[in-house]
Amino acid sequence: MDLDAIYDREIDELVPHELAILVWPDERLTKPCQDITRFDTEDDKFLEQMVLDMTFTMLQNQGIGLAAPQVSIMANVIVLLVENKPVVLINPKIKSVSDKEYEWEEGCLSVPGYYEKRKRPNSVIVEFKDIFGNDREAEFIGLWSFALQHEMDHLRGKCFVDDLSKLKTSRVKKKIEKTLKRKLPRRKG
Ligand code: ZN
Repeated sequence: MDLDAIYDREIDELVPHELAILVWPDERLTKPCQDITRFDTEDDKFLEQMVLDMTFTMLQNQGIGLAAPQVSIMANVIVLLVENKPVVLINPKIKSVSDKEYEWEEGCLSVPGYYEKRKRPNSVIVEFKDIFGNDREAEFIGLWSFALQHEMDHLRGKCFVDDLSKLKTSRVKKKIEKTLKRKLPRRKG
């Protein structure tokens, strides 16, 4: 979905929709996203509808984070589940990261069934906008710092399994195939 389609969407009332999640490797997951340039007003709630759909999709799939390109929306928008509360970040930019690292079994809703231990900075300060275009800044720590950085990678067209060896890549593909076949519950961002 391009941004014009989102901006021009007719919304009668806010009802959540589950969106289809792209499965890696999908070409659309390799494209950098665009910033949001129009924001919600009292009468026009197209972004609220979009993030409602994204949040619903994340929760339905037991995720803790979702980036807009994972649901074919090529916009710099992330939803994160922080201590069971959804947080929406529009046009996020990382201001600083810590030297200290956090280790976690990285996973992705677009890479169902595959997990790999990785390290990322333990804390991150990020600037972003809310759905009305107001400037915000927040610090994310530990798991949420990790998850936010994972989602930021999606916005620039990167997925955590992009640069694996040939052997590992074929293992990832097999794992995804098997997981989708079994329709196991998926989790993580
Ligand atoms: Zn992901």
